[in-house]
Amino acid sequence: MPFKINNRFSKNLPADPNPENSRRQVTQGFYSYVTPKQTNKPKLLHVSDEMVTELDLDQAETQSDNFLNLMTGNSVLPETNPYAMVYGGHQFGNWAGQLGDGRAINLFEAEGKTQDWAVQLKGAGETPYSRSADGLAVLRSSIREYLMSEAMHHLGIPTTRALSLALTGDSVLRDVMYDGNPAYEKGAVVSRVAESFLRFGNYQIFTSRNDIASLQQLVNYTIETHFSHLGTPSKETYLKFFEEVTQRTLTMIIHWQRVGFVHGVMNTDNMSILGLTIDYGPYGWLEGFEWGWTPNTTDRQHKRYRYGNQPNIGLWNLYQLANALYPLVEEAEVFEEILDGYKKEYAIKSLKMMADKLGITNPGEDDLKLIADLEECLQLTETDMTIFFRKLGDFKKNDSVAGFELIEDAFYAPNELTEEVKSQWTVWFSEYAKRLQQESCSDDERQAAMNRVNPKYVLRNYMAQLAIDAADEGDYALIDTLYQMLKKPYEDQPEYEKWFAKRPEWARDKVGCSMLSCSS
Ligand code: AMP
Ligand code: MG
Repeated sequence: MPFKINNRFSKNLPADPNPENSRRQVTQGFYSYVTPKQTNKPKLLHVSDEMVTELDLDQAETQSDNFLNLMTGNSVLPETNPYAMVYGGHQFGNWAGQLGDGRAINLFEAEGKTQDWAVQLKGAGETPYSRSADGLAVLRSSIREYLMSEAMHHLGIPTTRALSLALTGDSVLRDVMYDGNPAYEKGAVVSRVAESFLRFGNYQIFTSRNDIASLQQLVNYTIETHFSHLGTPSKETYLKFFEEVTQRTLTMIIHWQRVGFVHGVMNTDNMSILGLTIDYGPYGWLEGFEWGWTPNTTDRQHKRYRYGNQPNIGLWNLYQLANALYPLVEEAEVFEEILDGYKKEYAIKSLKMMADKLGITNPGEDDLKLIADLEECLQLTETDMTIFFRKLGDFKKNDSVAGFELIEDAFYAPNELTEEVKSQWTVWFSEYAKRLQQESCSDDERQAAMNRVNPKYVLRNYMAQLAIDAADEGDYALIDTLYQMLKKPYEDQPEYEKWFAKRPEWARDKVGCSMLSCSS
């Protein structure tokens, strides 16, 4: 395989000296060498043609046995030494100690056309960080991660990417709803790619062990490799680094809010230092617009990671990162200033984002009420966020009366549309029309701008579930259909019109559609 291997991470940072693949606390080094597990009967299900091109591979080559074996862990390239990284993390608000790559194995790093990429296999067997689990992944969660990471990229949202999806031919035991009913499922491996898979937890683990030398070594490496524009590492550069991570994290979360993506498990071990969306587990899409919604059944009680709380959790996680970096700077106020900046920037950026969704070009304080009133209207009765905003693009500023009819497709329960609800909407549309009168662009221009931020096609959970159910039966066509459609989420694609629809009623309470656990 003609990958242009450079292995920056493992060349620059020392490994755990213990070569054994046994579950343990790893207190020396930044990663442990591991060999991926041999699979029984691997079968490639899909390859991201875009990542193939970016990595300068030949499309035909991806059909070879060499590629299949490499991407399922059955063979390892010469001069590469796969490894699992050590990290810690706060899970659901509590420090969890050492976590690490329990089922991700980094194969190598290679040069792509536009940037360098780390290539890793998710679900390729146990590592020293597997704790009580098996290091494997099942088909359903692998399809979800594979499709979603590519779809997020096309939505313009920073994310890790995916190169391939394969079955292992092995069975994996999982208790999907954690209710004492384990069953065998098909095992799968996704090869994921990103500039780096470093997470907040990679830094936190060293501070928690008071190993400040390792912390500094890792931060210096990160700056020199991924933030080299900030200059040579120094106290000042550490702060600039933290500031940029803060900005990137906020930017990513504002994007999530814009499209209605709910990550589901924003633990600090699932926060990328590069501000990429990472670790697609029990994520979901808002269908009915609702601040309190979370797809993750494990979080059902406290809803810590609900849609409306994602910006707060981003900040909470950044506080933990600040604590981890503090020993390198030893001045609390400077960190606090940056964190205060997050709150101010959030207010500005979220106003701008909502204004963009509404086609308002120069938002001001006065628009806050229009937006708050809209958010209230959207929650009067279950209203599909994606359909609402996309259809709103058809609004004509001289015809506010027609507004309500335009968006009628977005309501899940037409019988709940009482006169009171309708009149609240009518008031909102007339305010909206008034506001648009202050804008100079035409209806068509506004619509074109709105369509660039309000996606038409998103990977609703039920859609992923249909692809999963078919794949379980050996039919992989829908994986490709969704993959192709999600390459152009903002364009009208008449051939995919049936996917521009509300969640069907059968999916309302179905496992995998409205409810997802962390079991994967
Ligand atoms: P997550 O919440 O999925 O991001 O995972 C939290 C931690 O559990 C990470 O350290 C994962 O590597 C680990 N983990 C999750 N699933 C498995 C598994 N099946 N086998 C081994 N480790 C796992
Ligand atoms: Mg994770």
